[in-house]
Amino acid sequence: MLHTLSIGELAAKLAGREISSVEITRHFLARIERLNGRLNAVITLTAEQALAAAAQADRRLAAGERGKLLGIPLIHKDIFCTDGVRTSCGSRMLDNFVAPYDATVVERLKAAGAVMLGKANMDEFAMGSSNETSYYGPVKNPWDETKVPGGSSGGSAAAVAARLAPFSTGTDTGGSIRQPAALTGVTGIKPTYGRVSRYGMIAFASSLDQAGVFAVSAADAAAALEAMSGFDPRDSTSVDTPVPDYSAGLDAPLKGLKIGLLREFFEGLEARNQALIEAALAVYTGLGAETVEVSLPHLPLSVPTYYVVAPAECSSNLSRFDGVRFGYRCDSPRDLTDLYERSRGEGFGAEVKRRIMTGTYVLSAGYFDAYYLKAQKVRRLITDDFKAAFARADLVLCPTTPTPAFGIGAKVDDPVTMYLNDIYTIGANLAGLPAMSLPCGFIDGLPMGLQLIGPHFAEQRLLNAAHQYQQATDWHRHGPHGFV
Ligand code: GLN
Repeated sequence: MLHTLSIGELAAKLAGREISSVEITRHFLARIERLNGRLNAVITLTAEQALAAAAQADRRLAAGERGKLLGIPLIHKDIFCTDGVRTSCGSRMLDNFVAPYDATVVERLKAAGAVMLGKANMDEFAMGSSNETSYYGPVKNPWDETKVPGGSSGGSAAAVAARLAPFSTGTDTGGSIRQPAALTGVTGIKPTYGRVSRYGMIAFASSLDQAGVFAVSAADAAAALEAMSGFDPRDSTSVDTPVPDYSAGLDAPLKGLKIGLLREFFEGLEARNQALIEAALAVYTGLGAETVEVSLPHLPLSVPTYYVVAPAECSSNLSRFDGVRFGYRCDSPRDLTDLYERSRGEGFGAEVKRRIMTGTYVLSAGYFDAYYLKAQKVRRLITDDFKAAFARADLVLCPTTPTPAFGIGAKVDDPVTMYLNDIYTIGANLAGLPAMSLPCGFIDGLPMGLQLIGPHFAEQRLLNAAHQYQQATDWHRHGPHGFV
Protein backbone atom coordinates (compact mmCIF):
# COMPACT_ATOMS: atom_id res chain seq x y z
CA MET A 1 0.00 0.00 0.00
CA LEU A 2 2.66 2.49 -1.08
CA HIS A 3 0.05 5.15 -1.79
CA THR A 4 -0.95 5.37 1.87
CA LEU A 5 2.57 6.34 2.94
CA SER A 6 3.56 9.93 3.61
CA ILE A 7 6.33 11.69 1.68
CA GLY A 8 8.54 11.30 4.75
CA GLU A 9 7.86 7.55 4.93
CA LEU A 10 8.52 7.10 1.22
CA ALA A 11 11.73 9.11 1.51
CA ALA A 12 12.87 6.94 4.44
CA LYS A 13 12.26 3.77 2.38
CA LEU A 14 14.19 5.27 -0.52
CA ALA A 15 17.04 6.30 1.76
CA GLY A 16 17.15 2.80 3.28
CA ARG A 17 17.20 1.35 -0.25
CA GLU A 18 14.14 -0.75 0.68
CA ILE A 19 12.42 0.38 -2.46
CA SER A 20 13.37 2.26 -5.59
CA SER A 21 11.88 5.40 -7.07
CA VAL A 22 11.10 3.40 -10.22
CA GLU A 23 8.97 1.01 -8.13
CA ILE A 24 7.13 3.86 -6.41
CA THR A 25 6.60 5.60 -9.75
CA ARG A 26 5.25 2.42 -11.37
CA HIS A 27 2.84 2.00 -8.47
CA PHE A 28 1.36 5.48 -8.88
CA LEU A 29 1.29 5.28 -12.69
CA ALA A 30 -0.67 2.04 -12.40
CA ARG A 31 -3.12 3.72 -10.00
CA ILE A 32 -3.64 6.59 -12.42
CA GLU A 33 -4.25 4.16 -15.26
CA ARG A 34 -6.74 2.18 -13.19
CA LEU A 35 -8.61 4.97 -11.37
CA ASN A 36 -8.31 8.21 -13.33
CA GLY A 37 -11.10 7.25 -15.73
CA ARG A 38 -13.54 7.74 -12.84
CA LEU A 39 -12.17 11.15 -11.85
CA ASN A 40 -10.75 12.85 -14.97
CA ALA A 41 -8.16 14.42 -12.65
CA VAL A 42 -5.12 13.80 -14.85
CA ILE A 43 -5.28 15.00 -18.46
CA THR A 44 -1.73 14.24 -19.59
CA LEU A 45 0.19 11.21 -18.41
CA THR A 46 3.97 11.35 -18.87
CA ALA A 47 4.79 7.76 -17.99
CA GLU A 48 7.94 7.44 -20.07
CA GLN A 49 9.51 10.66 -18.79
CA ALA A 50 8.45 9.74 -15.24
CA LEU A 51 10.22 6.39 -15.36
CA ALA A 52 13.34 8.04 -16.78
CA ALA A 53 13.28 10.69 -14.03
CA ALA A 54 12.75 7.97 -11.41
CA ALA A 55 15.73 6.00 -12.74
CA GLN A 56 17.78 9.18 -12.52
CA ALA A 57 16.62 9.71 -8.91
CA ASP A 58 17.63 6.13 -8.13
CA ARG A 59 21.12 6.82 -9.47
CA ARG A 60 21.38 9.91 -7.26
CA LEU A 61 20.20 7.87 -4.25
CA ALA A 62 22.70 5.11 -5.07
CA ALA A 63 25.45 7.73 -5.11
CA GLY A 64 24.53 8.62 -1.54
CA GLU A 65 22.50 11.75 -2.18
CA ARG A 66 19.47 12.30 0.09
CA GLY A 67 16.58 14.75 -0.20
CA LYS A 68 13.07 15.17 1.11
CA LEU A 69 11.61 14.86 -2.40
CA LEU A 70 14.33 12.87 -4.16
CA GLY A 71 12.50 10.10 -6.03
CA ILE A 72 9.00 11.17 -4.88
CA PRO A 73 6.29 11.40 -7.58
CA LEU A 74 3.99 14.39 -8.10
CA ILE A 75 1.44 15.82 -10.52
CA HIS A 76 1.60 19.40 -11.80
CA LYS A 77 -1.44 21.55 -12.40
CA ASP A 78 -1.60 22.08 -16.16
CA ILE A 79 -1.07 25.81 -15.69
CA PHE A 80 2.69 25.30 -15.23
CA CYS A 81 4.80 25.21 -18.37
CA THR A 82 6.56 21.87 -18.74
CA ASP A 83 9.35 21.59 -21.28
CA GLY A 84 8.32 19.32 -24.18
CA VAL A 85 4.97 18.43 -22.59
CA ARG A 86 1.55 19.82 -23.51
CA THR A 87 0.55 22.73 -21.24
CA SER A 88 -3.14 23.34 -21.92
CA CYS A 89 -4.29 25.45 -18.96
CA GLY A 90 -7.56 23.53 -19.32
CA SER A 91 -8.35 25.41 -22.52
CA ARG A 92 -8.99 24.56 -26.15
CA MET A 93 -6.88 27.66 -26.81
CA LEU A 94 -3.76 25.80 -25.62
CA ASP A 95 -4.80 22.24 -26.42
CA ASN A 96 -1.97 22.03 -28.96
CA PHE A 97 0.60 24.01 -26.95
CA VAL A 98 3.79 22.21 -26.00
CA ALA A 99 5.79 24.44 -23.69
CA PRO A 100 9.36 25.11 -24.79
CA TYR A 101 10.64 25.57 -21.22
CA ASP A 102 9.94 24.67 -17.59
CA ALA A 103 8.23 27.01 -15.13
CA THR A 104 10.46 27.83 -12.15
CA VAL A 105 8.25 25.68 -9.91
CA VAL A 106 8.70 22.74 -12.28
CA GLU A 107 12.42 23.36 -12.61
CA ARG A 108 12.94 23.51 -8.83
CA LEU A 109 10.97 20.36 -8.10
CA LYS A 110 12.85 18.60 -10.89
CA ALA A 111 16.15 19.69 -9.37
CA ALA A 112 15.00 18.37 -5.99
CA GLY A 113 14.52 14.98 -7.69
CA ALA A 114 10.71 14.90 -7.62
CA VAL A 115 9.24 12.82 -10.43
CA MET A 116 6.44 14.29 -12.57
CA LEU A 117 3.77 11.69 -13.37
CA GLY A 118 1.61 13.98 -15.49
CA LYS A 119 -0.51 17.13 -15.62
CA ALA A 120 -3.72 17.78 -13.74
CA ASN A 121 -7.06 18.95 -15.08
CA MET A 122 -8.17 22.43 -14.03
CA ASP A 123 -10.77 25.09 -14.69
CA GLU A 124 -10.05 26.88 -17.96
CA PHE A 125 -7.28 29.43 -17.28
CA ALA A 126 -7.93 28.81 -13.55
CA MET A 127 -11.28 30.58 -13.69
CA GLY A 128 -13.78 28.68 -11.63
CA SER A 129 -14.67 27.21 -8.25
CA SER A 130 -15.83 23.77 -9.31
CA ASN A 131 -13.55 22.47 -12.06
CA GLU A 132 -16.44 22.39 -14.50
CA THR A 133 -15.07 24.98 -16.97
CA SER A 134 -12.24 22.78 -18.29
CA TYR A 135 -12.16 22.05 -22.02
CA TYR A 136 -11.40 18.45 -20.96
CA GLY A 137 -14.61 18.06 -18.98
CA PRO A 138 -15.33 18.22 -15.26
CA VAL A 139 -13.22 16.59 -12.57
CA LYS A 140 -15.18 14.35 -10.20
CA ASN A 141 -14.82 14.35 -6.44
CA PRO A 142 -13.44 10.98 -5.26
CA TRP A 143 -15.66 11.18 -2.14
CA ASP A 144 -18.77 11.22 -4.33
CA GLU A 145 -18.35 11.13 -8.09
CA THR A 146 -21.56 13.10 -8.65
CA LYS A 147 -20.02 16.06 -6.80
CA VAL A 148 -17.49 18.69 -7.87
CA PRO A 149 -13.98 18.63 -6.34
CA GLY A 150 -13.84 22.42 -6.15
CA GLY A 151 -11.72 24.56 -8.42
CA SER A 152 -9.78 25.75 -10.10
CA SER A 153 -7.06 23.27 -9.05
CA GLY A 154 -9.65 20.47 -8.83
CA GLY A 155 -7.59 17.88 -10.71
CA SER A 156 -4.58 18.42 -8.44
CA ALA A 157 -6.73 18.14 -5.31
CA ALA A 158 -8.71 15.09 -6.47
CA ALA A 159 -5.48 13.35 -7.50
CA VAL A 160 -4.01 13.68 -3.99
CA ALA A 161 -7.33 12.79 -2.32
CA ALA A 162 -7.50 9.59 -4.40
CA ARG A 163 -3.79 9.00 -3.74
CA LEU A 164 -2.86 9.08 -7.43
CA ALA A 165 0.26 10.97 -6.31
CA PRO A 166 1.77 11.82 -2.92
CA PHE A 167 1.54 15.53 -3.72
CA SER A 168 0.62 17.97 -6.45
CA THR A 169 1.02 21.61 -7.36
CA GLY A 170 -1.77 24.15 -7.68
CA THR A 171 -2.34 27.85 -7.99
CA ASP A 172 -4.55 30.13 -5.93
CA THR A 173 -5.81 33.46 -7.27
CA GLY A 174 -8.97 33.63 -5.16
CA GLY A 175 -9.02 30.31 -3.35
CA SER A 176 -8.15 27.71 -5.97
CA ILE A 177 -5.86 25.73 -3.68
CA ARG A 178 -7.72 26.05 -0.38
CA GLN A 179 -11.23 25.53 -1.71
CA PRO A 180 -10.59 22.25 -3.61
CA ALA A 181 -8.36 21.07 -0.74
CA ALA A 182 -11.33 21.54 1.60
CA LEU A 183 -13.84 19.84 -0.69
CA THR A 184 -11.64 16.80 -1.30
CA GLY A 185 -10.28 16.40 2.24
CA VAL A 186 -6.62 17.19 1.66
CA THR A 187 -4.17 19.78 2.98
CA GLY A 188 -3.41 22.74 0.72
CA ILE A 189 -1.27 25.82 1.21
CA LYS A 190 -1.11 29.07 -0.72
CA PRO A 191 1.99 30.97 0.38
CA THR A 192 2.52 34.72 0.56
CA TYR A 193 2.33 36.56 -2.77
CA GLY A 194 5.93 36.68 -4.01
CA ARG A 195 7.12 33.61 -2.08
CA VAL A 196 6.97 31.25 -5.07
CA SER A 197 7.97 32.35 -8.56
CA ARG A 198 5.22 32.91 -11.13
CA TYR A 199 7.67 32.48 -14.01
CA GLY A 200 6.23 29.97 -16.47
CA MET A 201 2.90 29.84 -14.65
CA ILE A 202 0.26 30.92 -17.15
CA ALA A 203 -1.10 34.24 -15.87
CA PHE A 204 -4.72 34.76 -14.86
CA ALA A 205 -4.63 37.80 -12.51
CA SER A 206 -0.98 38.62 -11.97
CA SER A 207 -1.35 40.62 -8.75
CA LEU A 208 -3.23 37.73 -7.10
CA ASP A 209 -1.84 34.50 -8.63
CA GLN A 210 0.34 32.41 -6.37
CA ALA A 211 1.55 28.80 -6.63
CA GLY A 212 1.27 26.32 -3.82
CA VAL A 213 0.83 22.67 -3.00
CA PHE A 214 -1.59 19.89 -2.11
CA ALA A 215 -0.59 16.97 0.09
CA VAL A 216 -2.14 14.59 2.58
CA SER A 217 -0.63 16.37 5.57
CA ALA A 218 0.95 19.65 6.60
CA ALA A 219 4.26 17.86 7.13
CA ASP A 220 4.25 16.68 3.51
CA ALA A 221 3.15 20.11 2.29
CA ALA A 222 6.05 21.68 4.20
CA ALA A 223 8.60 19.54 2.37
CA ALA A 224 7.08 20.34 -1.03
CA LEU A 225 6.62 24.07 -0.43
CA GLU A 226 10.19 24.47 0.73
CA ALA A 227 11.51 23.06 -2.55
CA MET A 228 9.27 25.34 -4.65
CA SER A 229 9.89 28.59 -2.79
CA GLY A 230 12.54 31.23 -3.12
CA PHE A 231 13.69 34.24 -5.06
CA ASP A 232 13.64 34.14 -8.85
CA PRO A 233 15.03 37.07 -10.82
CA ARG A 234 12.74 36.09 -13.74
CA ASP A 235 9.65 37.08 -11.72
CA SER A 236 9.72 40.81 -10.90
CA THR A 237 7.35 40.31 -7.94
CA SER A 238 9.38 37.48 -6.43
CA VAL A 239 10.62 38.44 -2.97
CA ASP A 240 14.25 38.00 -2.04
CA THR A 241 14.06 36.64 1.49
CA PRO A 242 15.52 33.33 2.63
CA VAL A 243 13.27 30.25 2.69
CA PRO A 244 13.09 28.74 6.17
CA ASP A 245 13.36 25.00 6.74
CA TYR A 246 9.59 24.55 6.99
CA SER A 247 9.88 20.95 8.16
CA ALA A 248 12.10 21.93 11.07
CA GLY A 249 9.46 24.26 12.50
CA LEU A 250 6.60 21.75 12.59
CA ASP A 251 7.02 20.57 16.16
CA ALA A 252 7.13 23.93 17.94
CA PRO A 253 4.58 23.98 20.77
CA LEU A 254 1.52 26.20 20.31
CA LYS A 255 1.37 27.45 23.88
CA GLY A 256 0.41 31.11 23.89
CA LEU A 257 -0.39 31.22 20.16
CA LYS A 258 -3.05 33.87 19.63
CA ILE A 259 -5.78 32.70 17.27
CA GLY A 260 -7.98 35.40 15.82
CA LEU A 261 -11.65 34.66 15.25
CA LEU A 262 -13.27 36.75 12.58
CA ARG A 263 -16.63 38.02 13.62
CA GLU A 264 -17.64 38.61 9.97
CA PHE A 265 -16.94 35.00 9.02
CA PHE A 266 -19.24 33.56 11.64
CA GLU A 267 -22.25 35.61 10.67
CA GLY A 268 -24.62 33.43 8.70
CA LEU A 269 -22.40 30.38 8.94
CA GLU A 270 -24.33 27.12 8.62
CA ALA A 271 -24.72 25.42 12.04
CA ARG A 272 -22.91 22.19 11.15
CA ASN A 273 -20.02 24.13 9.62
CA GLN A 274 -19.83 26.30 12.73
CA ALA A 275 -19.78 23.19 14.94
CA LEU A 276 -16.75 21.85 13.03
CA ILE A 277 -14.90 25.14 13.40
CA GLU A 278 -15.69 25.26 17.10
CA ALA A 279 -14.46 21.69 17.55
CA ALA A 280 -11.21 22.63 15.80
CA LEU A 281 -10.88 25.64 18.04
CA ALA A 282 -11.29 23.39 21.10
CA VAL A 283 -8.38 21.28 19.79
CA TYR A 284 -6.27 24.42 19.56
CA THR A 285 -7.14 25.68 23.02
CA GLY A 286 -6.33 22.17 24.28
CA LEU A 287 -2.88 22.65 22.72
CA GLY A 288 -2.40 25.88 24.68
CA ALA A 289 -3.53 28.45 22.11
CA GLU A 290 -5.60 31.47 23.14
CA THR A 291 -8.37 33.13 21.18
CA VAL A 292 -8.95 36.79 20.46
CA GLU A 293 -11.82 38.25 18.53
CA VAL A 294 -10.78 40.26 15.49
CA SER A 295 -12.78 42.12 12.91
CA LEU A 296 -12.27 42.81 9.23
CA PRO A 297 -15.01 45.35 8.58
CA HIS A 298 -14.35 45.58 4.83
CA LEU A 299 -14.23 41.84 4.23
CA PRO A 300 -17.84 41.60 3.03
CA LEU A 301 -16.63 43.65 0.04
CA SER A 302 -13.98 41.12 -0.92
CA VAL A 303 -16.04 39.15 -3.47
CA PRO A 304 -17.17 42.20 -5.51
CA THR A 305 -13.68 43.68 -5.24
CA TYR A 306 -12.08 40.48 -6.49
CA TYR A 307 -14.55 40.11 -9.34
CA VAL A 308 -13.48 43.53 -10.63
CA VAL A 309 -9.71 43.20 -10.12
CA ALA A 310 -9.32 39.60 -11.34
CA PRO A 311 -11.30 40.00 -14.59
CA ALA A 312 -9.52 43.31 -15.29
CA GLU A 313 -6.14 41.63 -15.05
CA CYS A 314 -7.30 38.57 -16.97
CA SER A 315 -8.66 40.63 -19.85
CA SER A 316 -5.22 42.12 -20.22
CA ASN A 317 -3.27 38.87 -19.70
CA LEU A 318 -5.37 36.85 -22.10
CA SER A 319 -5.01 39.34 -24.94
CA ARG A 320 -1.83 37.47 -25.91
CA PHE A 321 -3.91 34.53 -27.14
CA ASP A 322 -4.70 35.91 -30.56
CA GLY A 323 -4.38 32.92 -32.89
CA VAL A 324 -1.15 34.30 -34.33
CA ARG A 325 1.74 33.37 -32.10
CA PHE A 326 0.74 30.14 -30.36
CA GLY A 327 -2.28 28.13 -29.43
CA TYR A 328 -5.53 27.66 -31.30
CA ARG A 329 -6.07 29.18 -34.74
CA CYS A 330 -9.41 29.06 -36.55
CA ASP A 331 -9.70 27.39 -39.95
CA SER A 332 -9.30 29.48 -43.13
CA PRO A 333 -9.67 33.02 -41.76
CA ARG A 334 -10.97 35.61 -44.24
CA ASP A 335 -8.71 38.38 -42.98
CA LEU A 336 -6.77 39.38 -39.87
CA THR A 337 -9.82 40.56 -37.93
CA ASP A 338 -11.64 37.34 -38.70
CA LEU A 339 -8.55 35.41 -37.55
CA TYR A 340 -8.54 37.20 -34.18
CA GLU A 341 -12.26 37.04 -33.65
CA ARG A 342 -12.84 33.43 -34.57
CA SER A 343 -9.65 32.10 -32.96
CA ARG A 344 -10.61 33.72 -29.65
CA GLY A 345 -14.31 33.01 -30.09
CA GLU A 346 -13.70 29.31 -30.73
CA GLY A 347 -10.66 28.87 -28.48
CA PHE A 348 -12.09 30.27 -25.22
CA GLY A 349 -14.97 28.83 -23.21
CA ALA A 350 -17.97 30.72 -21.80
CA GLU A 351 -16.57 31.58 -18.36
CA VAL A 352 -13.31 32.91 -19.78
CA LYS A 353 -15.27 35.09 -22.22
CA ARG A 354 -17.46 36.37 -19.40
CA ARG A 355 -14.35 37.42 -17.44
CA ILE A 356 -12.71 39.03 -20.46
CA MET A 357 -15.84 41.05 -21.16
CA THR A 358 -16.25 42.11 -17.53
CA GLY A 359 -12.59 43.02 -17.32
CA THR A 360 -12.59 45.00 -20.54
CA TYR A 361 -15.66 46.87 -19.34
CA VAL A 362 -14.25 47.86 -15.93
CA LEU A 363 -11.01 49.03 -17.54
CA SER A 364 -12.65 51.08 -20.27
CA ALA A 365 -12.49 54.88 -20.26
CA GLY A 366 -15.40 56.25 -18.28
CA TYR A 367 -15.73 53.15 -16.06
CA PHE A 368 -12.12 52.81 -14.93
CA ASP A 369 -12.49 55.19 -11.96
CA ALA A 370 -15.89 53.92 -10.92
CA TYR A 371 -14.93 50.22 -10.91
CA TYR A 372 -11.27 49.39 -11.23
CA LEU A 373 -9.84 52.26 -9.22
CA LYS A 374 -12.56 51.92 -6.59
CA ALA A 375 -11.83 48.19 -6.29
CA GLN A 376 -8.13 48.91 -5.80
CA LYS A 377 -9.00 51.31 -2.98
CA VAL A 378 -11.22 48.74 -1.26
CA ARG A 379 -8.43 46.22 -1.70
CA ARG A 380 -6.17 48.50 0.32
CA LEU A 381 -8.82 48.81 3.06
CA ILE A 382 -9.09 45.02 3.27
CA THR A 383 -5.30 44.74 3.49
CA ASP A 384 -5.26 47.31 6.29
CA ASP A 385 -8.01 45.41 8.12
CA PHE A 386 -5.85 42.29 8.08
CA LYS A 387 -2.85 44.28 9.27
CA ALA A 388 -4.85 45.51 12.27
CA ALA A 389 -6.07 41.96 12.96
CA PHE A 390 -2.51 40.62 12.92
CA ALA A 391 -1.43 43.23 15.42
CA ARG A 392 -3.61 41.30 17.90
CA ALA A 393 -3.57 37.73 16.56
CA ASP A 394 -0.79 35.44 15.31
CA LEU A 395 -3.13 33.82 12.83
CA VAL A 396 -6.77 33.80 11.89
CA LEU A 397 -8.93 30.67 11.97
CA CYS A 398 -12.11 30.36 9.89
CA PRO A 399 -13.94 28.02 7.53
CA THR A 400 -12.56 27.47 4.02
CA THR A 401 -15.92 27.07 2.28
CA PRO A 402 -19.56 27.78 3.16
CA THR A 403 -20.72 24.27 2.21
CA PRO A 404 -19.34 20.84 1.33
CA ALA A 405 -18.94 19.80 -2.32
CA PHE A 406 -22.05 20.47 -4.40
CA GLY A 407 -23.43 18.48 -7.33
CA ILE A 408 -21.84 18.65 -10.76
CA GLY A 409 -24.01 21.03 -12.78
CA ALA A 410 -25.76 22.50 -9.71
CA LYS A 411 -24.34 26.01 -10.04
CA VAL A 412 -23.02 26.25 -13.60
CA ASP A 413 -25.88 28.39 -14.85
CA ASP A 414 -25.59 30.92 -12.06
CA PRO A 415 -22.18 32.60 -12.06
CA VAL A 416 -22.90 34.86 -9.07
CA THR A 417 -23.85 31.91 -6.83
CA MET A 418 -20.68 30.23 -8.03
CA TYR A 419 -18.59 33.31 -7.19
CA LEU A 420 -19.97 33.35 -3.64
CA ASN A 421 -18.22 30.03 -2.92
CA ASP A 422 -15.05 32.08 -2.65
CA ILE A 423 -16.32 34.25 0.16
CA TYR A 424 -13.89 32.92 2.79
CA THR A 425 -10.82 32.59 0.59
CA ILE A 426 -10.59 35.75 -1.52
CA GLY A 427 -9.55 38.14 1.27
CA ALA A 428 -6.14 36.46 1.67
CA ASN A 429 -5.41 36.89 -2.05
CA LEU A 430 -6.41 40.54 -2.10
CA ALA A 431 -4.03 41.14 0.81
CA GLY A 432 -1.30 38.78 -0.51
CA LEU A 433 -1.37 36.70 2.68
CA PRO A 434 -0.40 33.05 3.17
CA ALA A 435 -3.32 30.75 3.94
CA MET A 436 -4.02 27.06 4.11
CA SER A 437 -6.86 24.60 4.38
CA LEU A 438 -6.82 21.34 6.31
CA PRO A 439 -9.45 18.66 6.77
CA CYS A 440 -11.52 19.18 9.94
CA GLY A 441 -14.48 16.78 9.66
CA PHE A 442 -17.43 15.86 7.49
CA ILE A 443 -20.89 17.12 6.60
CA ASP A 444 -23.15 14.50 5.00
CA GLY A 445 -20.15 12.25 4.47
CA LEU A 446 -18.24 14.95 2.56
CA PRO A 447 -15.02 16.53 3.82
CA MET A 448 -14.86 20.09 5.13
CA GLY A 449 -11.87 22.37 5.55
CA LEU A 450 -10.51 24.54 8.29
CA GLN A 451 -8.71 27.65 7.07
CA LEU A 452 -5.71 29.30 8.71
CA ILE A 453 -4.57 32.71 7.45
CA GLY A 454 -1.31 34.30 8.58
CA PRO A 455 0.59 37.55 8.20
CA HIS A 456 2.97 37.92 5.25
CA PHE A 457 5.69 35.25 5.20
CA ALA A 458 4.22 33.35 8.16
CA GLU A 459 4.11 30.07 6.21
CA GLN A 460 6.14 28.35 8.89
CA ARG A 461 3.69 29.40 11.60
CA LEU A 462 0.75 28.13 9.54
CA LEU A 463 2.42 24.80 8.81
CA ASN A 464 3.38 24.44 12.45
CA ALA A 465 -0.19 25.14 13.62
CA ALA A 466 -1.60 22.78 10.97
CA HIS A 467 0.85 20.01 11.86
CA GLN A 468 0.08 20.28 15.57
CA TYR A 469 -3.64 20.01 14.78
CA GLN A 470 -2.93 16.94 12.65
CA GLN A 471 -0.96 15.37 15.49
CA ALA A 472 -4.01 15.78 17.73
CA THR A 473 -6.68 14.70 15.20
CA ASP A 474 -6.94 12.20 12.37
CA TRP A 475 -9.25 13.94 9.87
CA HIS A 476 -6.42 14.15 7.35
CA ARG A 477 -5.95 10.37 7.47
CA HIS A 478 -9.43 9.64 6.14
CA GLY A 479 -9.51 8.79 2.46
CA PRO A 480 -12.34 8.32 -0.01
CA HIS A 481 -13.78 4.82 -0.06
CA GLY A 482 -12.74 2.82 -3.09
CA PHE A 483 -9.55 4.83 -3.60
CA VAL A 484 -7.61 4.44 -0.35
N1 GLN B 1 -12.92 30.82 -7.95
C1 GLN B 1 -12.15 31.98 -8.20
C2 GLN B 1 -12.34 32.41 -9.64
O1 GLN B 1 -13.10 31.80 -10.30
C3 GLN B 1 -10.72 31.75 -7.88
C4 GLN B 1 -9.98 31.01 -8.92
C5 GLN B 1 -8.54 30.84 -8.58
O2 GLN B 1 -8.12 30.97 -7.43
N2 GLN B 1 -7.75 30.55 -9.60
O3 GLN B 1 -11.75 33.32 -10.09
